[in-house]
Amino acid sequence: MTVTVRFAPSPTGKLHVGNMRAALWNWLYARGRGGKFILRIDDTDEERSTKAYEEGIKRDLEWLGLFWDETFHQSARFPEYDRVADALREQGLLYPCYETAEELERKRRLQRARGLPPVYDRAALQYTESEIEKFRAEGRKAHWRFKLSHKPVEWNDLIRGATSVDTANVSDPVLIREDGMYLYTLPSCIDDIDYGVTHVIRGEDHVTNAAVQIEIMRAYIAIKGAGALPSFAHHSLLIGADGQGLSKRLGSLSIEAMREDGLEAAAITSLLARLGTSEAVTPEPDLAKLAASFDLSKVGRAPARFDMAELEALNAKLLHETAYASVAGRLEAIGVDAALWDAVKGNLLRLNDAAYWRDVARGEIDPVIEDKAFAEAAAGLVPDDPLTEESWAAFADAVSKATGARGKKLYMPLRLALTGVAKGPEMAPLFALMGAEKARARLRGERG
Ligand code: GLU
Repeated sequence: MTVTVRFAPSPTGKLHVGNMRAALWNWLYARGRGGKFILRIDDTDEERSTKAYEEGIKRDLEWLGLFWDETFHQSARFPEYDRVADALREQGLLYPCYETAEELERKRRLQRARGLPPVYDRAALQYTESEIEKFRAEGRKAHWRFKLSHKPVEWNDLIRGATSVDTANVSDPVLIREDGMYLYTLPSCIDDIDYGVTHVIRGEDHVTNAAVQIEIMRAYIAIKGAGALPSFAHHSLLIGADGQGLSKRLGSLSIEAMREDGLEAAAITSLLARLGTSEAVTPEPDLAKLAASFDLSKVGRAPARFDMAELEALNAKLLHETAYASVAGRLEAIGVDAALWDAVKGNLLRLNDAAYWRDVARGEIDPVIEDKAFAEAAAGLVPDDPLTEESWAAFADAVSKATGARGKKLYMPLRLALTGVAKGPEMAPLFALMGAEKARARLRGERG
């Protein structure tokens, strides 16, 4: 059996860390088992789905390295869904309902007032011919519900363990709206069977859906005379560092926002792969290694915390360990060579911050001079080119002797004058890279 998974976003918004964690886990699960990763675009809602969101989703997945083996759109499969819907109608498993949204809301309110769960009362199964005629005469169109068994549905969830949902407590799901639009449920069941999906890995907000879908899938497998139920794995959802759900901040937590902010794809995958599992989060740019260690049995039940500060720290750690060759293209684009990269990478929060140090080493910056006399004296002591990594210690020593300054009083004004800022990488390699002429000019307060 080939492990086959799918990531099934609706192209009605941007991917955020929560969806991306589900995508990544599916991808890692498949890759670690020689399996197949399908990208399914759940675009049955033709009003809310856009090409732009779909392209954004694909760009995000590609940026993170989560390439798919196959992709398809639900909107291309309406004839298949229609055939199955007809077969379900014939069996009495898909039945027409004529209540308006207001009428349904009123029923739910009454049920709640009586302390009953707001489960659909199946009034539509009792309609008489004349009632149906009356609805039609009023111009009402039917929406269609699937008739659940009202029995417990049990499965061994690969994360939650033995799981049981009694469908007597669940409203018969609407599969087709009155305007004819398919909601995601029926297409998803048909697709999972037709595409041989073996594992459905997704958030635990879909646990009740799983029970419903298992019943629909069973009905479809009987109609088709082929196919097998997938295994299910429902993971807990991410919460923010403050313990609240992520939904309020989803804009800033979109993968696109993180890319635009200059974060590394590998920092995101390193964190999301392990967040909520028993494995420690470490910077791991190699997705194959993350895949090899990914295992659903290591996934915990508690909600996992997503903390931007943790991602930022991981990003920095990852950069510190990044060899020039693996990011050469991006560094060449901002004029950073291997020597400069090695000199500054240990100090970066974002790769693009290397551009500032490029200017320190080879371009122009505004020096900060606090004590003119001290800086003048230092300028006179800069050794002649070529400067090497050893030159710095000798220079600082000479300045100390000439001015009497030591420790922070010696190093801080030199750093401010030579780099323009109070913090940064080791001075020795930077000093060698900038050379004597720039160093002297900056100590004299000239932009250079
Ligand atoms: N399109 C559905 C969603 O985004 C897919 C859920 C599933 O994985 O079955 O919620």
